[in-house]
Amino acid sequence: MNFKEYIRVIPDYPQPGIRFKDITTLLQNGPVYKEAIDQLKALIQEKEIDVIAGPEARGFVIGAPLAYALGVGFIPIRKSGKLPAETIEADYALEYGKDKLAMHTDAIKPGQKVLIADDLLATGGTIQTSIDLIKQLGGEIVGAAFLIELSYLDGRSKFDGIDVVSLVQY
Ligand code: 5GP
Repeated sequence: MNFKEYIRVIPDYPQPGIRFKDITTLLQNGPVYKEAIDQLKALIQEKEIDVIAGPEARGFVIGAPLAYALGVGFIPIRKSGKLPAETIEADYALEYGKDKLAMHTDAIKPGQKVLIADDLLATGGTIQTSIDLIKQLGGEIVGAAFLIELSYLDGRSKFDGIDVVSLVQY
């Protein structure tokens, strides 16, 4: 399936020069969304995975159905101030702007094998910060899965030794 046909590219959003990959047009199509999750699942199902972690908000849309399909838990990584219990936090830089990500301190048990999922890999800043948080909690990163990879930004070079898979590359 050519998933690119279902991803809408919005020029100059959220700021001039960015060509935003809008996945809402893919998500609203049930068979295409299902096929995307099924294909991502096929790319990671040989791995030993205890839990999947995904950064808000689009990481939930990819990570949670993948976790359900594999029958493993899902861990939300959220913007600062959104999680109700005790958290650890880390700063991160985006392709545009910066923010803080947080996880519950008891979200991951030491030694658990964690796969990270998100909709899109750009510079890799979001996932780098997610990895830092997961490692602080004692998790072991077994891979990262993305619907979309912006290959020209070479985000995957940040993850030496971590298996990175993606369905669609630009
Ligand atoms: P990175 O941290 O790798 O530079 O940026 C990736 C993060 O920013 C992801 O969490 C993703 O949701 C968001 N993001 C950046 N650019 C785009 C884009 O063009 N489309 C979508 N859907 N998300 C983007």
